[in-house]
Amino acid sequence: MKQNLLDFDAHGLTTYFAEMGEKPFRAKQLMRWMYKEGESDFAAMTDIAASLRDKLTQYACIATPTIMREELSDDGTRKWLLDVGTGNAVEAVYIPEATRGTLCISSQAGCALDCSFCSTGKQGFNRNLSVAEIIGQLWWANHQLGKNAEGNWAISNVVMMGMGEPLLNFDNTVSALRLMLDDHGYGLSRRRVTVSTSGVVPAMDRLREECPVALAVSLHAPNDALRDVLVPINKKYPLKDLLAACTRYLEQAPRDFITFEYVMLDGVNDSVQQAHELLWLVRDVPCKFNLIPFNPFPQTHYRRSKPDAIARFRDVLMQANVVTTTRKTRGDDIAAACGQLAGQVRDKTKRTMQRPVVLHR
Ligand code: SAH
Ligand code: SF4
Repeated sequence: MKQNLLDFDAHGLTTYFAEMGEKPFRAKQLMRWMYKEGESDFAAMTDIAASLRDKLTQYACIATPTIMREELSDDGTRKWLLDVGTGNAVEAVYIPEATRGTLCISSQAGCALDCSFCSTGKQGFNRNLSVAEIIGQLWWANHQLGKNAEGNWAISNVVMMGMGEPLLNFDNTVSALRLMLDDHGYGLSRRRVTVSTSGVVPAMDRLREECPVALAVSLHAPNDALRDVLVPINKKYPLKDLLAACTRYLEQAPRDFITFEYVMLDGVNDSVQQAHELLWLVRDVPCKFNLIPFNPFPQTHYRRSKPDAIARFRDVLMQANVVTTTRKTRGDDIAAACGQLAGQVRDKTKRTMQRPVVLHR
């Protein structure tokens, strides 16, 4: 089988080339073609010696996961469904905004953590994505969207907030992050790459050591009793430990705050009293809040908080000078909103595979 070069970070590619008797600068040259130019055809890499190009054509490839379907939402959000084999699919979502283009990518097919309000969790865990499958989402999206007038790729920000828990696929996630940050890769600033975690405390410490990027933590509850129900990994790493890990993370983080995500569930975690409890809980952690109106999916008993409950909750946080944003539920019409990703995939895989690619709705 051919070696997929998207599976290597810079170090891995240099080692691979060394084993072929090639100099390290060849790895840099190749990375520039792959990531700066978005080229996947070795024959087109004109400044690489013909003999090496031939060798690469014979033994290697640059292959992203196969795209099963693309959908375009009325609000410009785009969703790609990627086939990762054995009836599994993951999703990547592109969200265009005036000043940036954000890609939300997946790290696992399914998720083992089973948060009670998450459709990915309801699918159970299937497998970790490879480095090529993670970085391939960005490669593919850039390839599709192209470059802007300044010659930059459309995607300026990456958030690992798609399917799966990135910190439970640690090594592959870190290799993919390195390719996003590497000057010969996508050259993104650490501040523009965000990992979202449900709170895998030891892995948060490793991330800080090995590859600090912006961090979002899925808090969702103001106390352990409720968080145990919503985010079951809380039983293993309770709030006291999680918040201490957040403080440690900030010692080396590219940003000086943690983004706390908080899903707004009607009558569950959205009262004014709970907002006050939350403020007290995070009093020692420099943070911002991102309130995410719950996105319903079939088989859930939760409901989205009412708009006035969300506004009241936000006001309590804002009055205490905690910057709070409420996430727009973008891409709703194509089920590309948070937590809906590939919610239907496992059941619908057979159907979607038979359908032609939908480019415009
Ligand atoms: N596993 C990681 C990252 C992926 S989930 C994590 O849990 O942080 C990205 C965000 O979407 C998390 O904050 C998650 O709690 C939230 N989310 C999951 N299901 C949701 C739903 N149905 N509605 C709104 N947000 C949801
Ligand atoms: Fe997994 Fe995140 Fe969903 Fe929880 S919210 S089940 S950690 S993907």
